[in-house]
Amino acid sequence: MTPQPWVRVPSCMSADKDTPPNTSPSDATGFDRLPLHSKLRKGVQEIGYLEPTPIQRDTIPHAVAGRDIIGTAQTGTGKTAAFLLPLLERLLDEPRGRTLALILTPTRELALQADGFLRKLAGHTHLRGAAVYGGVGMADQERALRGGAEIIIATPGRLLDHMGRGYVNFRALRILVLDEADRMLDMGFLPDVRRILRQLPSQRQTMLFSATMPPEVVSLSREFLRDPKMVQVEERTVAAVGVTHLALPVPSHLKTDLLLNLLQDATMTSVLVFTRTKHRADRLAQQLARGGVAAGVIHGNRSQNQRVRALEGFRLGEHRVLVATDIAARGVDVKDVSHVVNFDVPHEPETYVHRVGRTARAQQRGDAYTLVAPEEEPDLVRIERTIGMRIDRAKVPGFSYEAPRPPGRSGGPGPRPSHQDRRFSQRRRVYRRR
Ligand code: ADP
Ligand code: MG
Repeated sequence: MTPQPWVRVPSCMSADKDTPPNTSPSDATGFDRLPLHSKLRKGVQEIGYLEPTPIQRDTIPHAVAGRDIIGTAQTGTGKTAAFLLPLLERLLDEPRGRTLALILTPTRELALQADGFLRKLAGHTHLRGAAVYGGVGMADQERALRGGAEIIIATPGRLLDHMGRGYVNFRALRILVLDEADRMLDMGFLPDVRRILRQLPSQRQTMLFSATMPPEVVSLSREFLRDPKMVQVEERTVAAVGVTHLALPVPSHLKTDLLLNLLQDATMTSVLVFTRTKHRADRLAQQLARGGVAAGVIHGNRSQNQRVRALEGFRLGEHRVLVATDIAARGVDVKDVSHVVNFDVPHEPETYVHRVGRTARAQQRGDAYTLVAPEEEPDLVRIERTIGMRIDRAKVPGFSYEAPRPPGRSGGPGPRPSHQDRRFSQRRRVYRRR
């Protein structure tokens, strides 16, 4: 598959080196054609983006001009920079020391991720950002809200805690962003968001971004946006984003064994495994560990520190498997996730799209394996209908599908794996059924 023109290059490979000599002005890169200050283009270059993604290209000019924005595009299409860059551009001439922009986002992971992008993109400006989210102390966040940061990226609950204490001052606020609005409403944040929005100056620019546009998001935008410019990047099926999908039918009590067997494949270098529940995530990680595969776990019941540690360990390759639930994985931005494994078939086809979007982020290649127990087949069929393609069924050669269900166990992670045939193989060991 040919990479898209906006595939990220590591920042150590400066974009300049790839530019042929005798570059004429018409060869300016896509970001040069956008109305962005050179300070910001420098940040873009350092973060390693060569070309704007479609949502960035279509949003930035209108947002820089001050329009309210409703932006919809699938997960992984670069929506964060689509609002961060115009937001920074509009605040470049503002003085320091007051909150000028607020970005509301559903999870701490997303807040931290946006804060990370912001630090890089704003690296050559005087503007500072701070993330405000639950599960950690209030003091640093209080300092940021008292004027230590011009841009606040917050989860709704924690922000309201601060607002209740009286020192939050949004009088100078110029820009509000509602990021991942669909997820924010899914998670029940609508009342919190309303309470926050009522306390913001009404003279402001508002941008709303969402992967999907369910009716609740539409009515939220009617309520809080003024004559918004709609920017919609056509929803492509995940198939188009460079993912190879494969379904692996297996009785539910053999799922752990099958996963351990799959993990013998040395090409599975960084594997994000999704389970339906927190409990199943914990249990699976323990069973993988007993099978000789170290795995990190992230889910809603783990502390912020535990999550950060699990993510860092995965990012650094200390453990090549990360077991996650859907909400926790939202915002996990790990470069080069080689494989997504759906240990359980999600009930909602949307969830499948989100999960699989974790691999092949920004158009790289990735594989997605889904373990399917017989009772999960109907869910898989609904997913196939949603993504508009049939997912091949495959068997793992040499795996014993006949092992009996141990007595007294319900489904789920199965017994300990047998240790025979624990060989690494460079070959693809999964064969498609024709
Ligand atoms: P979304 O919010 O739409 O899910 P993100 O903003 O999280 O997407 O971006 C997804 C990934 O794509 C991130 O790793 C981000 O760094 C990368 N990315 C964003 N814009 C570009 C670009 N113009 N070129 C290359 N990579 C990009
Ligand atoms: Mg996003």
